[in-house]
Amino acid sequence: MSDQVLNLLKSEIPPDEYKKYINALHFDENNSTSDHIVFTAPNKLLVGWIQTKYANKIADIYESLTGQKPTVTIEHKLFTPPVKKSGTTPPKNPQPGPSTILNSSYTFENFIVGTSNQLAFGAAQSTAINPGQQYNPLFIYGGSGLGKTHLIQAIGNYAINHGATVIYTTSEQFLNDFLYNLRNHTMERFRKKYRQCDFLLIDDIQFLSNKEQTQEEFFHTFNELHRLHKQIVLTSDKPPKKIAGFEERLTTRFEWGLMADVQPPGLETKISIIKKKCELDNIHLDDDVINYIAAHMEDNIREIESAIIILNAHASMLSKKITIDFATEVMKDLIKERTVNITLDDIIRVIARELNIKPSDIKSKKRAQPIVEARRIGIYLAKTLTPENKMKDLAEFFGLKDHTAVSHAMRKINELLQNDENFKVKVEELKSKITSTKMNSGESM
Ligand code: ADP
Ligand code: MG
Repeated sequence: MSDQVLNLLKSEIPPDEYKKYINALHFDENNSTSDHIVFTAPNKLLVGWIQTKYANKIADIYESLTGQKPTVTIEHKLFTPPVKKSGTTPPKNPQPGPSTILNSSYTFENFIVGTSNQLAFGAAQSTAINPGQQYNPLFIYGGSGLGKTHLIQAIGNYAINHGATVIYTTSEQFLNDFLYNLRNHTMERFRKKYRQCDFLLIDDIQFLSNKEQTQEEFFHTFNELHRLHKQIVLTSDKPPKKIAGFEERLTTRFEWGLMADVQPPGLETKISIIKKKCELDNIHLDDDVINYIAAHMEDNIREIESAIIILNAHASMLSKKITIDFATEVMKDLIKERTVNITLDDIIRVIARELNIKPSDIKSKKRAQPIVEARRIGIYLAKTLTPENKMKDLAEFFGLKDHTAVSHAMRKINELLQNDENFKVKVEELKSKITSTKMNSGESM
């Protein structure tokens, strides 16, 4: 039924909207009843957007099919593969065969390199160019949304374009394929397929955890490919030693080649990634909006991408220009406003640490240029992050004569913010450090 409903929805909305939003939905069978239908989407941005824009439409379609209009809610749930009850029960609808369909935009050219991912990027590139040599296997690990799938598929795209035979599969697909062939007594076919490729790329290998039989089979596949100097690339959310439920003979093999991690991107890298995505999706965002997104969204690039798409969709629906105010308004629920309980001392502490200036100097009357600048940034952030403090409180705290001195400092800093893009980024970065330090210390919320 839910498939039928979504198919009908498909005929009612533009295909690219369907692709961007509705494809991300999963029907939540366990929590749905005939008068209350639940779908899940993998990120909060999509949840809000789909709820406002499509939930009612979906309910109408149900009504047209059943005569009864249910409520439809969209909930946030990260997509995790269905848990198999037993390692040997074949899935009901096996999808035999690995997917070799690669996302054509996941290329090395479209990947932004920063200190957070340069090791993984370099290793991926040399693996694609010189397979089966230095880095075999290449094991890429790191948090969600940091570019692992992009990199492993970039290897695949490169290799295919250079005439190699590539199998790209997720570990769930590998598992399904294995069980399917096992049940149909066609293991020979399975083995031939996985052992005769130039590249075996398995994404999210951690999902083979506790699947002993599949691990056993993979162990032999691995050995055979390795013996033939065929390239193996694996990704995972953790380094090999830390993945639970894996046989040791496998995790030691994962460490034979090169292990490369992807770290959360720094602010500069985030900004470059956002610019790249805008370029690829043909979306225009002003620099101040880009900086705002980079400084306020967390590190998951997938979520940042949805934020951009949703921002753009809102703007075009309302025929509005994406100004910083518009972006703040649209994104306010998505970005945790982290201004709770921040004190003037928190601000000084972070600025002092980051700019390498003594807290007492910031609050002093010293006129050395770096100190004056740190003081002005402090005043500006105090004004932004602690709105409860009046001008005279700030004057007192920062050792200034009176509130006019605070106004003067604010004027100076606003001038700089308007004219100096680098300075603005620096201030945004400090702001996000102050708020995240506070969040991580667990004092707020
Ligand atoms: P992971 O597999 O680590 O969860 P993905 O590879 O799926 O993450 O990345 C999520 C999204 O973010 C993808 O659309 C990917 O293109 C993009 N992305 C992540 N890192 C980068 C980067 N350094 N440059 C460009 N795009 C990136
Ligand atoms: Mg991935």
